[in-house]
Amino acid sequence: MKVTFLGSGGSAVSERRACPSIMLDESTVFDLGPGALKNLRASHIQTEKIRKVFISHQHADHITDLIPFLWAIQIDGRQAPLEIYGPPGFKEIFTKLLECTSTTDGFFKFPLTISEIDFGAKLGNISTCRTSHSIPTLAFRVEENAKSFCYSADTIYCPAVIELAHDADLLIHEAT
Ligand SMILES: [Zn+2]
Repeated sequence: MKVTFLGSGGSAVSERRACPSIMLDESTVFDLGPGALKNLRASHIQTEKIRKVFISHQHADHITDLIPFLWAIQIDGRQAPLEIYGPPGFKEIFTKLLECTSTTDGFFKFPLTISEIDFGAKLGNISTCRTSHSIPTLAFRVEENAKSFCYSADTIYCPAVIELAHDADLLIHEAT
């Protein structure tokens, strides 16, 4: 299990930090806050290897580089499928993002799947819960090779996140 921080800087990009974005094993990305795409490019990771993107919630500091990321991988000539997951209501949000960036139907030539994850749902080796935030927000836990990784985006004190993160080998927790 290899964790790469593409962004770790809270709600505003600074000279040194991008907003939240965490890559797991070069195949899964959690959130794509502003500045994350630049750091992804700087990491020289092959974007073709990224197969899943999980978005915790729609606040600007967690989602703003999603559409630029999709443009970048399309321009790279991506062929591999990509799955994007978000909280309930995410499909509508994604459609609006495409509309307001004039990203037309058919712009992406690679297979792209957009899905919503119900709070508390499990997706393979990934468990989720709802955090205590002003809008619907997911936290994630991944189990892999007897290791566990937990990522909670924005929340106040939240028993569900405590339960999700219990005994995790690594907890990454938003703390703006
Ligand atoms: Zn937020």
